[in-house]
Amino acid sequence: MSASAGPKLRPATLHRVLGGWYARNRRDLPWRRTRDPYRIWVSEVMLQQTTVRAVTPYYEAFVERFPALPDLAGAREEDVLAAWSGLGYYHRARNLHRGAQHVAERHAGRFPKTLEAALAVPGVGLYTASAVLSIAHGLPLPVVDGNVRRVLARLFALRGPDGRREGAFYNLAEELLDREAPGEWNQALMELGAAVCTPRKPACPACPLRAHCRAWSLGLAEKLPEGKTRRPPVEVTVAAALIQRGDCLLLVRREQGRLMGRMWEVPQTSLESHGLPDLVREVEERHGLRVVPGALAVRARHAITFRRIRLEGYRAWLRQALPADPDRFRWASPEEVSRLPTSSMTKKLLRGLRQAQLPLELG
Ligand code: SF4
Repeated sequence: MSASAGPKLRPATLHRVLGGWYARNRRDLPWRRTRDPYRIWVSEVMLQQTTVRAVTPYYEAFVERFPALPDLAGAREEDVLAAWSGLGYYHRARNLHRGAQHVAERHAGRFPKTLEAALAVPGVGLYTASAVLSIAHGLPLPVVDGNVRRVLARLFALRGPDGRREGAFYNLAEELLDREAPGEWNQALMELGAAVCTPRKPACPACPLRAHCRAWSLGLAEKLPEGKTRRPPVEVTVAAALIQRGDCLLLVRREQGRLMGRMWEVPQTSLESHGLPDLVREVEERHGLRVVPGALAVRARHAITFRRIRLEGYRAWLRQALPADPDRFRWASPEEVSRLPTSSMTKKLLRGLRQAQLPLELG
């Protein structure tokens, strides 16, 4: 193991100490109650860039709707996106769907049992393949996600080039892996990173690995891992046109190939706009619709990566007949909206609109 001042790191001792801690402290999460590789795969994809708290209700609803891999493989993309609506990063849902179709066609609906075959599944990278195979089938494969990277950087007090090289983390994770119980070990490391060895203010005094941790012994815990500085948050305003007809709301479909492509949303400005001043022009440029905005009806807040979004929903009217193109435009009732794949911003606007209890008018 990489030489650096501090306590000696003996894998067998770490397995015993961290394994015991994990057995006593692991959170009871729905995807930890199964060894079904399909369900573990779904959870791993959902958990990328999203917190456990946010994922849990989506995971439960998703596996209720698509209980086994063939159910997902045979579903329409629109239904898969609808079940994912609100979780964000929709390319994950599309990749999962494509991956399930690949597994249904090539592996009779069962997630592959070798790393090579798992990596051939569309959308499955080294992290996901290793997580699913180690947890579901006990294959001795290390996983390196953000939590594991942080724990390893601190445990080994990695600084300088070593602390920035992806290969260095992978090699350490492989050296440390508990080959008797790789799935449990991988989950234990990730759990430690999520619950104790957190990015800011790690709870070192309560950490089971404190006596073995070089960063702790060197007083460096909060300074590691070194590297990327966070992009400072940027405030932006998105203005949306809430156009009603009876109890229906006008939704437009985003273009294929754009971020959140093919999702439904209320006509709105882009993240690069200035909000209301750009609303009329952008809706016409993007959708060919001429609109007249009225009073501000809904305010909400939203965040996408570094952007802090002020969301403003304006009552609005069409200045033309709606083009007859059901693939791009639709009047959606509240029930239809809840079944369609819609963005989180649109969901927030609709919630706000319901809370405002506006009198409904013909558009
Ligand atoms: Fe992380 Fe602190 Fe534990 Fe070291 S002692 S692994 S820095 S929480």
